[in-house]
Amino acid sequence: MRYISGLPRPKAGKGPRVLAVLGSTGSIGRSVLEVVRLQPQRFRIAALAGGRNMELLAAQAAEFKPARLCAQDEQSAERLRRLLPRGVRPTVLVGSEGCGEAARSAEVDMVVSAQSGAAGLHGTYAAACSGKIIALANKESLVLAGRHIREACARSGASVLPVDSEHNAVFQCLAGSDGRAFPTEGRGYLRRLILTASGGPFFGRPKEETDKARPDQALKHPTWNMGAKVSIDSATLMNKGLELIEAHHLFGLPMADLEVVVHRESVVHSLAEFTDGSLLAQLGVPDMRIPISYCLGFPERLNSGAPALDLVALGSLHFSPPDRLAFPCLDLARSAGEKDGGYPVVLNAANEVAVDAFLAGGIPFGAIPRIVEHCLDAYGAGRTDACDAFSCAPDTIEAVPALDAAARVRARREVELFTC
Ligand code: MG
Repeated sequence: MRYISGLPRPKAGKGPRVLAVLGSTGSIGRSVLEVVRLQPQRFRIAALAGGRNMELLAAQAAEFKPARLCAQDEQSAERLRRLLPRGVRPTVLVGSEGCGEAARSAEVDMVVSAQSGAAGLHGTYAAACSGKIIALANKESLVLAGRHIREACARSGASVLPVDSEHNAVFQCLAGSDGRAFPTEGRGYLRRLILTASGGPFFGRPKEETDKARPDQALKHPTWNMGAKVSIDSATLMNKGLELIEAHHLFGLPMADLEVVVHRESVVHSLAEFTDGSLLAQLGVPDMRIPISYCLGFPERLNSGAPALDLVALGSLHFSPPDRLAFPCLDLARSAGEKDGGYPVVLNAANEVAVDAFLAGGIPFGAIPRIVEHCLDAYGAGRTDACDAFSCAPDTIEAVPALDAAARVRARREVELFTC
């Protein structure tokens, strides 16, 4: 086992940790700023990058006074400039290049990578190349380019701290409370990792019923309050599949040593099993401010603002195997992770296209795994009908967006076949 990066070195001298928050208007980004508000003396915000909600980004800029803002396109940037209050005049950057510039900025110590989907890769990779501490909430970065990010961290001395609650739980189990016990070389005493899954809103329902589910039903997550994309991924269990690939890149274990167990209460956030049979788990209420605060303060623990877990009130915990037939995305992701190369890129692109189409009311819920499977099959068969890039293996970081784009073209064709 070799962790994806070394652990961050303590900052020379005192002073606040300087943050760039990419995806500050999303669910994770807003929680990051909540944790920062609880201990303003510890942090300074140097840059904020938002998605579509320019009103919120302007309000965040007025509150935190970052030197740089980033909007996703020119039109949004224009709107943002008009919304900024008098006296607040940060540099406004645009698009993934802008996010990269914000992440690379010399004054930034830590980059919070919390954009949704493949769009988060550019900012994460820029942070990995510039030696930053990366609080990683964008799992797609590792799914698409885990090897490239690992290599960039080794070259630059960048560190990755996982925000995703399952990986953060494992990280806590391995690192110990002061962060010093983390094994960075060799497999150590670790036998396997067990990621917990809530099972999503359709747990235990017959497949014939869930195949016809509507977006409003799929968006109702039983325990976590999250953005639309990750909520749908939780309903299909693709989220857990992507997390298997993420864990493989973070912790360096083969896919075969990564298990998934359904745990409806979402209180045990994941577990590490050791060679003597010991299982270490991290428990807490399902509140993203806990893993976020662990990363922001690492190796110190901060006030997260989350309530304590009341075990007696909870009473009992339940565990069961995932229903792999009802939720085929889990096996599709495991298989793509095992094959590696371009398969995880195709898996993710096809899934993003299918989820967008489902949310727009264009395809039934049951079509999502079928679209993903058809795209993976076409890629595996070397069919280059989308374009030549659809057959390539992304051996360089530059080849990843090309394969991602080609897989989306292919997936959109599949969506047309399933359009209802
Ligand atoms: Mg998660």
